[in-house]
Amino acid sequence: MTAEYPHLFQPIKLGHLELSKRVIMGAMHTYLEEAVDGWDRLAAYYVERVKGGVELIVSGGVGPNKSAPIIEGGGILTNKKHVKLHKPVVDAVHEAGGYICLQILHTGRYAFGQHLVAPSSLVAPTNQFVPHELTTEEVKKQIFDFVRCAVLAKEAGYDGVEIMASEGYLLNEFLSTHTNKRTDVWGGDYKKRIKFVTSILKMVRKSVGKDFLIILRLSLIDLIKDGSTIEEVILLANEAEKAGVDVINTGVGWHESRIPSVAGLVPRGAFVWVTEKFRKHINLPLIACNRINTPEVAESILESGVADMVSLARPFLADPAFLNKAEQGNADNINTCIGCNQACMDHAFNFTVVSCIVNPRACHETLLEYKPVTNTKKIAVVGSGPAGLICATVAAERGHDVTLFESSDRIGGQFNLAIKIPGKEEYKETLRYFESELQRTGVTVKLNESATADSLADAGYDDVVVATGVTPHIPELAGIDNPMVLDYLDVLNGAEVGERVVIIGSGGIGFDLAELLTHHPEDDSATNVETFLNKWGIDKTLESRGGVGGTPQISSSGRSVTLLQRKRNKVGHSLGMTTGWIHLQTLNFRGAQMYNSVKYVRIDSDGVHTIIDNKNKFFPADTVIICTGQKPNTDLEVDLNKAGLKNHVIGGALASKRLDAKRAFKEGALLAAEL
Ligand code: SF4
Repeated sequence: MTAEYPHLFQPIKLGHLELSKRVIMGAMHTYLEEAVDGWDRLAAYYVERVKGGVELIVSGGVGPNKSAPIIEGGGILTNKKHVKLHKPVVDAVHEAGGYICLQILHTGRYAFGQHLVAPSSLVAPTNQFVPHELTTEEVKKQIFDFVRCAVLAKEAGYDGVEIMASEGYLLNEFLSTHTNKRTDVWGGDYKKRIKFVTSILKMVRKSVGKDFLIILRLSLIDLIKDGSTIEEVILLANEAEKAGVDVINTGVGWHESRIPSVAGLVPRGAFVWVTEKFRKHINLPLIACNRINTPEVAESILESGVADMVSLARPFLADPAFLNKAEQGNADNINTCIGCNQACMDHAFNFTVVSCIVNPRACHETLLEYKPVTNTKKIAVVGSGPAGLICATVAAERGHDVTLFESSDRIGGQFNLAIKIPGKEEYKETLRYFESELQRTGVTVKLNESATADSLADAGYDDVVVATGVTPHIPELAGIDNPMVLDYLDVLNGAEVGERVVIIGSGGIGFDLAELLTHHPEDDSATNVETFLNKWGIDKTLESRGGVGGTPQISSSGRSVTLLQRKRNKVGHSLGMTTGWIHLQTLNFRGAQMYNSVKYVRIDSDGVHTIIDNKNKFFPADTVIICTGQKPNTDLEVDLNKAGLKNHVIGGALASKRLDAKRAFKEGALLAAEL
């Protein structure tokens, strides 16, 4: 128990396991199983988390048969050959002192491919593949497959299983009339619809015996209109207890739900009240989830007694030593998950190996190593945006003598601008972490200092890292010099913006500005749970099915905003897979207009003249904002090359095309590992 987080570090008995803290590392499919050397990489990824204080891990989802994985050929556990693949990973976790449970996941109608099955042949709105409706006998076979998977997990040495009955996957699909239209023994009233799940639970317990943890990930709030009611969920939870389940992990929302549940614009601990609602009706220990990204949030949940444990998944991607740092009083040095989803969930839904934007080593522990150096070099890093920050701190951590130059009065570069966008408030945590990390690693920070080739040459640096970032790209367009035309930096730095706005360029920055300019000044939904629930029409009484109470009430500043883009793709196409829909939906509610395939003719004091579909179209505007990309700041690199000074260019200064924080952090980390 620590003084700072006494409830977090309080022992608990979970099934046959004695744990010293009330945290589990939640399931996150990493796609390492499918990668070259993936099993070794998976073991290294888990071991690093156990060394960082994680005690109990739930693995990424593994299918009980070939119809289960999200993609054809994805990870399954169906025979002894598979057991041999899993065993070294499990052994590595045990040797490091941790426990690990296997998540058994059948993705049902969310699978992409011809292999998908479901209770009824209904296509998911997030999919185009038509599922095969399981016959009565095939449902029985599925139960057998779950049981076989659990038995094989035990054989591989796992300490238990988590059975996934949440997020709209197969088991969840049987529970809801939204997806279960069956008329046989597996469909009909709720008692019949839960039979598939309870049969699996009972038979798994019977087959694995006593000393094997069974976690049920149960959807407590579906966030879809035909979802379960509170009474139905309680009934199932109590049946699960009778069936031999040890603990219930809270599931929130189906993947097809159009209510955000994990993005950064969801307030911290936004769904803890759901766990609280069920607390008095369920005897089993309950685990709270979703947007618990700091030890303070975890502690307050546990202190209030609304849950027995908390589950964190993405925060352990961002910082494997999260728990050790919290326990040792170094919470300020935790690299906090900012809920961006860019390198984790967006990768997972793109079937590529997962990582983390603020920690590119995540899932790359054996490939990106920060080894101590024997030959200390004097290194200058110029520019303290994401690329410069990670490069400076990792190089110093490895033993180099590093000086970081920043021409402004604060570190962070473009991250300081991102913080101004509603919904990106969490980004400030990354800057807090790097402030702490710069200090810890002993980097000399020189603010308000523009390093030049001459000054760097005079100081005798062995290596110079150019991380000088970007400036806005201004296209050649008639009328671009009109005083009502601003670039995105002008706006983020506080320039006055009129009531009718046309944004030219609708990539990430264009959308960020549209969000900022249409945001109602009193909307604090990213930090206030009540406002968030009202905004998205979530019924806090849980009297409505699935917790969906009505249409979202998304307020607006009243500004009229139009987003234009030259490209033919749908506007918003380049946004993150798991968050783009939220931005689009929000802006649609606020009445924003969006046009693609736009030919710009000219800007004048009245607005923007364009051609769309071979027709002239005029967009009246008080302000036109240019968001047509960026160009690298290359002056320092040019000067250094002229002076013959060894330099390395990273981040936006290297290439501005497709620049984002993910690429910048990764380039900074890769370079620092090699210097
Ligand atoms: Fe968190 Fe973003 Fe990292 Fe995912 S990529 S773990 S959301 S910080």
